[in-house]
Amino acid sequence: MTKLSIIVPCCNEQAALPAFYEAATAVVAALPEVEAEYLFIDDGSTDQTLSLLRALAGQDARVRYLSFSRNFGKEAAMYAGLQAARGDLVAILDADLQDPPGLLPDMLSRIQSGDYDCVAVRRVSRKGEPPIRSLFARGFYRLVNRLSRTQIVDGARDFRLMTRQMVDSILQLPEYNRFSKGIFAWVGYRTCWLEVENVERAQGRSKWSFFKLWLYALDGIIAFSTAPLAIASILGLLFCLVAFIAIVFVIVRQLLWGGSAFGWPSLVCILLFVTGIQLFCIGILGQYLAKTYLEVKKRPIYLIRETGGGGQDDPA
Ligand code: UDP
Ligand code: MG
Repeated sequence: MTKLSIIVPCCNEQAALPAFYEAATAVVAALPEVEAEYLFIDDGSTDQTLSLLRALAGQDARVRYLSFSRNFGKEAAMYAGLQAARGDLVAILDADLQDPPGLLPDMLSRIQSGDYDCVAVRRVSRKGEPPIRSLFARGFYRLVNRLSRTQIVDGARDFRLMTRQMVDSILQLPEYNRFSKGIFAWVGYRTCWLEVENVERAQGRSKWSFFKLWLYALDGIIAFSTAPLAIASILGLLFCLVAFIAIVFVIVRQLLWGGSAFGWPSLVCILLFVTGIQLFCIGILGQYLAKTYLEVKKRPIYLIRETGGGGQDDPA
């Protein structure tokens, strides 16, 4: 028997949960030699998600749930799930059926062949997504892969099946600013990529606003690259060089033709430009400082208010 843990982060998923549970259990029932546990992480839902989970746990001993004290974000939910999972194989799925459980048997057979430590899903199309969002997403992947040595696959979803060994490695990265797509890549191991078409959300709506995605992208770059810091210093050097050339130019002009008291408008422009660049670079510095600040505080990544399921009162 293989023990499989299925981790499902849920944030206000009352509409999608019943369909997910039905689909997932149907798929798992058809898998021979697999003993599944479902680990639902309620990420501070304000709807009926938690009571649905309590009910599921009551009727199915394979279901366990953790409920956070507030919304800590999907990254925290995935981390909590990985920590609580007991399986030899661990899968992470979204509750909205955008990660079709139907792919699990294929993923399982690939990982059981022994050639891979991880089977991950990437979408090759972004149909159904606002074009502007796709544009920025593509730009982000190009940028981050240029800036960082950790290569993040374009279109990679968080949907993946991993071996216990890889999960333990991921748990060794207890950083506060979690960017899982990067962490999965950083730990390495042999990953098999399944390419799928984008599946649109079954029920409810996406929790990601455009602004949230921006911040998430910034997190990703800062977490996996220090190149922006280097860019700031290079910009500084470049401006010193330009200034030096300008000084030589002004001195030579003064010696040859005299009269240097002109060029006030251009002076103001240069001043504004250089001040702008300076503030920009301080801003980059500030971003790293802020992340470091949050990191050194060593606050917990999530807080649990309630756990249940697993056929006992307090499984955690
Ligand atoms: N999610 C979560 N906490 C959050 C936001 C999302 O646990 O703060 C969960 C959500 O319930 C879903 C998964 O993460 O199971 C993906 O979220 P969503 O579908 O909103 O993102 P998208 O698929 O649009 O990227
Ligand atoms: Mg979704």
